[in-house]
Amino acid sequence: MCLVRQRNKGHAGLGERLHFLMTFKIDDEHGPKTATDQPAYPGAVLQIDLSALAHNYRMFADEAAPAECAAAVKGDAYGLGMEPIAKTLWDAGCRTFFVALTQEGLTLRTLLPSAVIYILNGLPPGAAETLARASLRPVLSSLEEVGEWAAWCRENDQRLPAGLHIESGINRLGLTAADVDHFAARPELLDDLTLSLVLSHLVSGDLPDEAINATQVERFETLRAKLPTAPASLANSPGSLSGSAFRFDLVRVGIGLYGGEPYAVGPSRVKPVVRLISHLAQVRAIAAGQSVGYRGTWTAERDSKIAVIPVGYYDGYPRSLSSASDLPHAWVSVEGHRAPVIGRVSMDMITVDVTDLPDHLAVRGKEAELFGTSPTVDELATWAGTISFEVFTGLGSRFARVYSRNESL
Ligand SMILES: *Cc1c(COP(=O)(O)O)cnc(C)c1O
Repeated sequence: MCLVRQRNKGHAGLGERLHFLMTFKIDDEHGPKTATDQPAYPGAVLQIDLSALAHNYRMFADEAAPAECAAAVKGDAYGLGMEPIAKTLWDAGCRTFFVALTQEGLTLRTLLPSAVIYILNGLPPGAAETLARASLRPVLSSLEEVGEWAAWCRENDQRLPAGLHIESGINRLGLTAADVDHFAARPELLDDLTLSLVLSHLVSGDLPDEAINATQVERFETLRAKLPTAPASLANSPGSLSGSAFRFDLVRVGIGLYGGEPYAVGPSRVKPVVRLISHLAQVRAIAAGQSVGYRGTWTAERDSKIAVIPVGYYDGYPRSLSSASDLPHAWVSVEGHRAPVIGRVSMDMITVDVTDLPDHLAVRGKEAELFGTSPTVDELATWAGTISFEVFTGLGSRFARVYSRNESL
């Protein structure tokens, strides 16, 4: 269980006052705990800027209009915390939400009683009653799922809404062209339910020049025309910025809301939402020729100053960011100065080279940004050979999470 507490802090930066909402875990077995149970002296603070989230939502909503802008909040809102994220999006005007699993839909329903909530992974066998009671809409993805939902609706004399997923190229979920023809020949199979959304999903939306994008638009148009008329949706974050052909009636935006770059290339249109801030826990001098970390994969070529930062792969800092002597690649930022990550990433710490930092910065306690404004989450993800989605959803649980909101919004 997760409790959100609010406390006011008089931060006067940029003439704005920020509200900080602190979240922390409660151990159910041992009863509610107090604010003093925030991790004491955490290794890092995960700062989540809810005003930037609302800003990004409005940017996507403006871009999508007159189409509706819905939010993907699966996976605990991409690992960032369902409650503060979903409530902020609701306050920013979002009314339709997509989660992956029934359990996520049930959680979200308790937070947002009036939201439209779709379950992207479809209808688990026997789950119709549970979904119906919580007013959750399955995105039906096969003939069996449609049959099961329609049967429940018929038996209970309720024409409940559901989405229908059409396969247009990604070949994971969705009705095939043959399935769609099946319904085209027997439209009465859909009579017992209300088709509230027909959707498909882009293969390479983040690469707008790929030919598959236009092909998917075409297939989607062709297939949905064979079905009863219903609102349609194809675009994810990048698709929603790719022009009117992709927008249809509703766009489903996820990563862009959270500050991940929608496109693999090109200028940024989103504000960073998440920052991971730690500090230099210790600074030591080592002589040229000495190595640092497990297996001694990095060796100092000169007399060096090395700082330890108390964040490791347990916290979701990818171990693949370990460096070898000849390849310092990842870096952290200390007051705008880059300190390269050197040696192996450990479970609970990383080591960075602070030799080139001004002396007053290479000291115990100095703040270090692991990702956020600089480097961005996309830079970090690229260094690690992954994507921002995996960095967010892989973030660990032992740092303090601080949700901030600009009062003027
Ligand atoms: C996750 C998801 C989205 C959102 O994708 P982003 O790339 O994060 O914008 C949209 N549609 C479906 C089907 C999804 O699974």
